[in-house]
Amino acid sequence: MAIQDKTRTIPGGIAETQINPYAMMLQQLDMVREQTDIPAGIWEILRRPERALEVSVPVTRDDGTIEVFTGYRVQYSSARGPCKGGIRFHPGVTADEVKALAGWMTWKCAVVNIPYGGGKGGVICDPTRLSRGELERLTRRYTVAIFPLIGMRRDVPAPDVNTNSQTMNWIVDTAGLLSGEAVPGIVTGKSLELGGALGRREATGRGVMVAALGVLQRLGMDVTKTRVAVQGFGNVGSISAQLLAQCGARITGISDVSGAFHCPRGFEIDDVLRYVATSPGHLLAGYNGRGVEEIKSDEVLTLDVDMLIPAALEAQITARNAQDIRAKIIVEGANGPTTPEADLILGERDVIIVPDILANAGGVVCSYFEWVQNIQCFPWEEEETNQRLAQILQRSLNEVWTLAEKRGISLRLAAFVLGVERVASAIQLRGIFP
Ligand code: NAD
Repeated sequence: MAIQDKTRTIPGGIAETQINPYAMMLQQLDMVREQTDIPAGIWEILRRPERALEVSVPVTRDDGTIEVFTGYRVQYSSARGPCKGGIRFHPGVTADEVKALAGWMTWKCAVVNIPYGGGKGGVICDPTRLSRGELERLTRRYTVAIFPLIGMRRDVPAPDVNTNSQTMNWIVDTAGLLSGEAVPGIVTGKSLELGGALGRREATGRGVMVAALGVLQRLGMDVTKTRVAVQGFGNVGSISAQLLAQCGARITGISDVSGAFHCPRGFEIDDVLRYVATSPGHLLAGYNGRGVEEIKSDEVLTLDVDMLIPAALEAQITARNAQDIRAKIIVEGANGPTTPEADLILGERDVIIVPDILANAGGVVCSYFEWVQNIQCFPWEEEETNQRLAQILQRSLNEVWTLAEKRGISLRLAAFVLGVERVASAIQLRGIFP
């Protein structure tokens, strides 16, 4: 499979590639292979999803016409436990993207050592063109289509891009009606009233904060003297910024799709959060706090800071801007924010990157807690969630850091080696049926 679907030339003459995500994941696996002695036959298993389903999803639009959407659910691996992974509603969803995302979920769950395999789902659609009623009908019909695959002990979806707790509520209701029994553990990320977990909204940002503090401590850096830029001020970015600011860090750059802002003395994050709570589209545009200046959107990535937290979209740090990044530490809140080319450039410059499969794993760890609470029918206090989440992420960072130091490899490669070896070991322990 070609890893580069297309090559486009960016002004300045540097070639930047548009990546087929599944080919990119396979390329990452090839790098892991050089670091392990996993037998060849097991590699063949690791390189393919266990099961991939494509479904047609007919929806009656509000005007009475019928539109048929295409959806997917991929179960990459169930070797370590039920498959786990979100459902994405986006026009750019492809079969290969869902396969890759399901693979990355597999390695992510293994890195943080929670008893899950990996899965992912998606529907090719533009949710901004759909009314609430159309979205509900799409979600319920998609649930029916993937119902043979999902289940509390089989495959547990969650929110992803353009899906949220309401989407999960519709799924849990539809699955309950189909099965004739309460099935709260069939999805995570539900509303609290339907069995959602306290602390889930903050969990990914909290994990980013724990990872960031862990790295600072290992480098002997004082959090109160650390300047941080955060790209993306949605769920992950805003909570990461808020929690790090509470620890004393100075958040000097923030951005979202509406604009980017610089404040050398440090933003008053609670003030920014109050602003976006009521601003049009909950966006930063028009924010005007003390000492705040507006900058160009991309500049947030290249500000003079100690730590950069990309928490917006994939492929933001590229061959085009990697050379200009001044942060010495990058903590990947987003999934796939750094292209492989940029990774190489940053590696040569000794920039420390806490990879996405570790840094943003707080979300799936809290999803795991939600599922445990659903199985036990026993909700936890938020404090318990936060404490256990911090423990798991600190332990995982420690394991990844130690392996990286021992082998002289990047944190990204170390995280992949750890995750893939755990999955390989589970496959070998089970043996090959029959
Ligand atoms: P979100 O929609 O709440 O926030 C995304 C933010 O990025 C918004 O503020 C948006 O305006 C901003 N943004 C979009 N395009 C931008 C651009 N070009 N420049 C600057 N900002 C831009 O989404 P989220 O849940 O915070 O997810 C962010 C990233 O984190 C995604 O990659 C997601 O896959 C990943 N992630 C999220 C979770 C979770 O629990 N929410 C868990 C793991 C990983």
